[in-house]
Amino acid sequence: MSGLLIIGASYAGVQAALTARDAGYSQPITMVCDEDWLPYQRPPLSKDFLLGRTSEQNLVLRDNAFFENKQIELVLGHRAVGLDLGTRRVTLERGNDLAFDQLVFATGSRARRIAIPGADLDGVCYLRSASDAIELKARLAAAAEIVIVGGGFIGLEVAASAAKLGKKATVVEASSRLLERAVSPIVSDFLLDTHLQAGVDIRLNEVVASFEGASPRVTGVVLDSGVNIRADLVLVGIGGIANDELARTAGLNCTNGIVVDEHGRSAMPDIFAAGDCANHFNRFCESWIRLESVQNAQDQAKAAGLAIAGSQGPYESVPRFWSDQYDVKLQIVGLAGKYDRKAVRGSVDAGKFSVFYYRDDRLVAVDSINRPGDQMAARRLIARGVSPSPEQAEDPSFDLKSLVTGGDKAGVLPPDL
Ligand SMILES: Cc1cc2nc3c(=O)[nH]c(=O)nc-3n(C[C@H](O)[C@H](O)[C@H](O)COP(=O)(O)OP(=O)(O)OC[C@H]3O[C@@H](n4cnc5c(N)ncnc54)[C@H](O)[C@@H]3O)c2cc1C
Repeated sequence: MSGLLIIGASYAGVQAALTARDAGYSQPITMVCDEDWLPYQRPPLSKDFLLGRTSEQNLVLRDNAFFENKQIELVLGHRAVGLDLGTRRVTLERGNDLAFDQLVFATGSRARRIAIPGADLDGVCYLRSASDAIELKARLAAAAEIVIVGGGFIGLEVAASAAKLGKKATVVEASSRLLERAVSPIVSDFLLDTHLQAGVDIRLNEVVASFEGASPRVTGVVLDSGVNIRADLVLVGIGGIANDELARTAGLNCTNGIVVDEHGRSAMPDIFAAGDCANHFNRFCESWIRLESVQNAQDQAKAAGLAIAGSQGPYESVPRFWSDQYDVKLQIVGLAGKYDRKAVRGSVDAGKFSVFYYRDDRLVAVDSINRPGDQMAARRLIARGVSPSPEQAEDPSFDLKSLVTGGDKAGVLPPDL
């Protein structure tokens, strides 16, 4: 029994399966995943789940009955370890193999490991999966002092959760500001202040040299500068790596992810990839990019699912991301990249502002802190290639939506807007 085989059952895998089925794909659909869990939401793992505000059950994206109803077979707890493109078969770790007509890689990414002395000590943790989160939550409850390596999204969200739980949290970041690759200095500085006010110790321009321990447990973190920070728990959040080895070994073109077109299709017509494991040319940043976000996983998988069902619907959504830290909601639309001008709307002091980024007079991205209205408008503006002037963006009385109301043309706006 062939049909559509999907490796990975998270946002991209589930979306590809549902889209293909809903668009009329009538052959069997099978999703194989190495995790034992029903497909679940990852974003709450560093936020509400760590804080005890949501349970494991509430993380589930869709239950068994839903998949049965859609005639999508779930093969959970099985890892795909081999792919033969000639015979169109995927081998599972436990020996059996599955045939396919179409294949989707929705294998996501994994946490980058740190390679320094002491990295194997008990209490040095990572956060990628529900199992990781359950372990981290239990360890956090028992810990007094946590050191977080990396001032990126996951590190800062865990720091916020730890501080809220009354723990002494220290973030060690190698660059000169937080979230350096994602946001501008204004937003970095705002987040730095927010964390400092919450009691989090932030060490910028510092590199972790080793972890110390009274074997087997970690007891401290040593920085290159010689500083030693006490820790009974360490969370390493230093980025993700695409799970593209299976595709690469089988001969597919992989460059920081599986290279795909706007339909999520690889160089081989029936082999697709979507989500964290895929690298695509993004027209909004005018370059090849691998994105790690729920929006990207779902929208790219929609394009793949449509192509598999014989429909058309290329992936051309504006990239979006969000992060929750304390009562700060950071939302990002577009990709700022190398911007040459910026404009600030709202009040940084009041903790409600947006930064508009321009390249060659074109609005390319907007970061918002607690200003969801700006985000809604910015999504439409960027999707349509309409740019308010920086003066208009800065003028709080200027209605951004007035530039994008009326005149909707079919097909101009991505379906998610
Ligand atoms: C703690 C945390 C917080 C986050 N917060 C946000 C947020 O606030 N906003 C946001 O937009 N994004 C957030 N993200 C990122 C977001 O969760 C990812 O971008 C998204 O999950 C990607 O979905 P995906 O389906 O591509 O891959 P994944 O969710 O990584 O799923 C891939 C699945 O495939 C499985 N798999 C891999 N290889 C194999 C194999 N060989 N055989 C079988 N199965 C395999 C994996 O185990 C996994 O279950 C967060 C991520 C984490 C970890």
